[in-house]
Amino acid sequence: MHRRRHRLALLLGIALLPASATAGGDSRPKPDKVCAYRSPVYLHEVEAGEHLGLIAGRYGVFRKDLIELNPELENPDHIRPGQQVKVCPEIPPRELERFTHRVEAGEHLSSIAAKYELEIEALIEMQGEKLRDPNNIWVGQELVIEREGPIVSGFEPEPPKRGRLSTAVHLDAGEGYVLRRPHLAYGTPSTIRNIEKVLARYRKRADGGPAVRIGDISKQSGGPLSGHLSHREGVDVDVGLVHKGAAAKSVRFVSATEGNLDLRRTWILVHEFLRTGQVRYIFLDYGVQKQLYEYARAHGVSKMQLDAWFQYPRGKGRGHGIIRHWRHHDDHLHVRFRR
Ligand SMILES: [Zn+2]
Repeated sequence: MHRRRHRLALLLGIALLPASATAGGDSRPKPDKVCAYRSPVYLHEVEAGEHLGLIAGRYGVFRKDLIELNPELENPDHIRPGQQVKVCPEIPPRELERFTHRVEAGEHLSSIAAKYELEIEALIEMQGEKLRDPNNIWVGQELVIEREGPIVSGFEPEPPKRGRLSTAVHLDAGEGYVLRRPHLAYGTPSTIRNIEKVLARYRKRADGGPAVRIGDISKQSGGPLSGHLSHREGVDVDVGLVHKGAAAKSVRFVSATEGNLDLRRTWILVHEFLRTGQVRYIFLDYGVQKQLYEYARAHGVSKMQLDAWFQYPRGKGRGHGIIRHWRHHDDHLHVRFRR
């Protein structure tokens, strides 16, 4: 659990912003140039046990983004509690609410965790040294509960835009992948370049297997696309998960089950999107995240690295990681690129 001191950080954040940012009597921080005017800079105060990847995950950015934004960090592998790290958050920072729960008769840790919608491990972590034996709690005992409160003022997500695509590039058919609807395969030049790069790298590493299914990107002119909330600006792409057996042959997207995913190839696909460093998020069902997380972990990817990329295992409601849960995403990845 990250015990953030938002109010302090926010005050310092304002103090570091140029004078113009506070002009006009509005004290909310303003979108900053170094964040491409998407958000203000947020100052994260490092807590004990945190590493840079975990902090990156907390705000939905890459570790390399934090290194770029904080050139004064002497050794990114050794950050110290109390140090401040600048972030351009993709996941808005939230106020932290902390209160005490007094244990009542009949309660146990799992029921208390469920009451506050926490994973039991997270509840235990919140108690720190004070909880000697998680199996032995007593009536009247005081437990610390931390919950994420409202979004820190000034960091509210931008309202949805009408969305247009001014310079449209078409993703053409190519070896190793199929376009489900070629007339909806238009994107920005950098989106198409990134998709092509991912598909080329995937092909080398996947070493055979079924064609990758590419779903909708955008219309040539952008704008609303029926059946989608986004896909308006040529920066979103739907990509089918890779299956084995009969499901591999379907041109339609197929829902993942415990047994039908080609985990090795699906992980290569996800990993190559992450490697571009140009992804804002990947929406993927929480259960599929679990399968991929465990696969990657068992195949040499460090927990520290996965902390930065995956929302799993923090709960599907939790804002964490580039890869996050969204309903109806158990048969494909929805990748959004940076503009
Ligand atoms: Zn989509």
